[in-house]
Amino acid sequence: MPALAIDYPDEVRAAVEGIEAFLRREVFPRHDKHGALLDDPHRRVTSAGVFIPEVRKIVDEVRLAAAEAGFYAMCAPKSIGGGGMGCLAYFAAHERIHHLCGAKAWLGHHVISHWAKGPSPVIEKLTAEAKSRFLAKIMSGEQTLCFGLSEPGAGSDAAAIKTRASPEGEGWRLDGAKIWTTNAPYADFIIVFAVTGPERAAARRGGISTFLVPAKAEGVKLDRIIRMWGSAGGDEAAIHFDHVRLEPYMLVGELGAGFATALQGVDLGRIYNSARSVGMGRWALEMAFAYAKAREAFGHPISEYQGVTFPLADSAMQVHAAHLMSLNAARLKDMGHPAVKELSMAKAYAVQAGALALDRAIQAHGAMGMTNELGLTEAYTTLRKVNVADGSNEILRRTIVRRMLGGDLDL
Ligand SMILES: Cc1cc2nc3c(=O)[nH]c(=O)nc-3n(C[C@H](O)[C@H](O)[C@H](O)COP(=O)(O)OP(=O)(O)OC[C@H]3O[C@@H](n4cnc5c(N)ncnc54)[C@H](O)[C@@H]3O)c2cc1C
Repeated sequence: MPALAIDYPDEVRAAVEGIEAFLRREVFPRHDKHGALLDDPHRRVTSAGVFIPEVRKIVDEVRLAAAEAGFYAMCAPKSIGGGGMGCLAYFAAHERIHHLCGAKAWLGHHVISHWAKGPSPVIEKLTAEAKSRFLAKIMSGEQTLCFGLSEPGAGSDAAAIKTRASPEGEGWRLDGAKIWTTNAPYADFIIVFAVTGPERAAARRGGISTFLVPAKAEGVKLDRIIRMWGSAGGDEAAIHFDHVRLEPYMLVGELGAGFATALQGVDLGRIYNSARSVGMGRWALEMAFAYAKAREAFGHPISEYQGVTFPLADSAMQVHAAHLMSLNAARLKDMGHPAVKELSMAKAYAVQAGALALDRAIQAHGAMGMTNELGLTEAYTTLRKVNVADGSNEILRRTIVRRMLGGDLDL
């Protein structure tokens, strides 16, 4: 019996089934073939912390094949050549991928464009000239992006950024620094948020603009790759901008309206992170129940001990609730509602539920749960980090409270 009474529309169901077939055809066989390399977090990266060329080639192959098959950009707006399938499909696809792949078959995570790395509604706002120069390769997956909002002095309080785009000639010059930028070690373009109107920015009334900056532009420097908890290499980096020339065509969206663009990107990030939390939570619980039935202690399967199974039941309730909350938030977005409160609740809750399910699955596996072999610890560290990224748990609660104090009391 299906656990969800809510059914996906036919086109979403077909896309998710297509992705599942794609994983079987293009992803799992690559993990079987290159397992020794892909499974070893130390072998797969250089001493500088980036993927070795062989691994990078495999990741690129999967992304390009996914674009060719029509999955990579299926949720990007139709106006830029995407499938226009929206937020529910975005959630459903990522949830299924993470449910089936967990942390082990991680190539699968590259099948749908990550909200900051590939085609998204933010790309819709590129100028006609930027589109004519770059859009084709962004849509085909040949080139990727990263999202430079956070700075050493501005994280949760993103409106406090100091990176400055000052008028110069017909365009601007860019100076400043970004940090924690995911995909920066590999990206061809950086979506940079910078102050263009200092007085408005200081008053928190706009004054921040968005630019598409080629990663190889003169004056752009990748300061360092950041190795996060649980990673031998780094997907995040710190970037420096020193007198980078910005041409008018590099502006993304309207001058001074960058904060709205940032929130649009972050919203999609919240759906993505809810999806992977639910997906990996389900993956972990399925492993834990299978192990509990197979593993014996004191002459009985450990599944007979409620000390083992009740925490799993708690997590089953939480992951199920997170699933329903996320589906609801994604649907509301597709219906045109801002769903600020609902999406904040879904992301905050799903990430905590997912991380706790991982923690409990690790415990149910005993020492085996602590090994790199199962990937449970890797998945746990991933979700634990997401408790800070794309709106920390505290900032999401702050948003929920602000909405409710403002009269949005519907639950
Ligand atoms: C894995 C990962 C990937 C990331 N990728 C990107 C990326 O691609 N691009 C990008 O721009 N950024 C990225 N970030 C940065 C992320 O957006 C910031 O880490 C996040 O906004 C929090 O900012 P901070 O780390 O500076 O913490 P701070 O803002 O310094 O907060 C520190 C602590 O104080 C809490 N806090 C702050 N203000 C309040 C408040 N008003 N009420 C209650 N608690 C508060 C926070 O919740 C947090 O616990 C990434 C972060 C991580 C962990």
